[in-house]
Amino acid sequence: MIKIDLHTHSSASDGTLSPRSLVKLAAETGLSALGLTDHDTVDGIDEALQAGKDFGVEIIPGIELSVNWEEGSMHLLGYYIDHHHLGLTEALQTCKLSRENRNEKIIARVNELGYSIKLEDILKLSPDGTCGRAHIANALIQSGYFKSVKEAFDKLLDYRAAAYIDRYRLQLEEAIQIIHDAGGVAVWAHPGNHSKINRMLELLPTWIDFGLDGLESDYCDHSIKLRDDLRKQALQYGSIYTGGSDFHGLNKPENSLGRGPEGSEIDVNCLRMLKERMEERRSS
Ligand SMILES: [Zn+2]
Ligand SMILES: [Zn+2]
Repeated sequence: MIKIDLHTHSSASDGTLSPRSLVKLAAETGLSALGLTDHDTVDGIDEALQAGKDFGVEIIPGIELSVNWEEGSMHLLGYYIDHHHLGLTEALQTCKLSRENRNEKIIARVNELGYSIKLEDILKLSPDGTCGRAHIANALIQSGYFKSVKEAFDKLLDYRAAAYIDRYRLQLEEAIQIIHDAGGVAVWAHPGNHSKINRMLELLPTWIDFGLDGLESDYCDHSIKLRDDLRKQALQYGSIYTGGSDFHGLNKPENSLGRGPEGSEIDVNCLRMLKERMEERRSS
């Protein structure tokens, strides 16, 4: 039985395992293929590819971009990207600068609200990775203000919470183009996380028209029913479906590596379709 996981995070973004430790865990868990999809960064990919060779796990180089759609924000997965592609790395650099700027603003707001943490504390928590709200949450926990990342997000950091600050994001169409230019395949991440999912599904044919390759049906937080509905919709429009656990190590301890909807395993067809789509994109 082949086991896969196409959606995971390492310490290059907001996961707690280094890329190498993540690949090692994947091997120990019996996964034969692993997609590394850190938020807005490709910094973990080279290490993951090397570890994949050492531990015998096929690594799919990926990314998870934060983008804007017509009525809000969403996550877009890019698979089989050339992670050294100039257009991609330049776009990521812009996102990184805006994220750093945003961290400073969030900390100023958090301080105003009476929580005493410093930017240096946050940077220390991610010496070589992307720094974001999960690190701010961990600094707040270390200072004794909250018990969990979730509590810090609910009370302060989530969208509409007291210290939420918006930031620059790529537009969906633009992000799909960047992924395609880098040789990759673009997939809408975790549709079920959105309260506006029905509106988004209405727009799906339009998004597919401008190049979206598929959606992530086999996502850990989806029900089996939603998974099956989403798979059907994807196939109906001639697009693909993918799946993953959104593993983050200790930052999301409830997400287990290799596990999809209701604890099920992720359909190996996800990887087959992803590969076929990548080959079609590259040959056209
Ligand atoms: Zn996401
Ligand atoms: Zn993710």
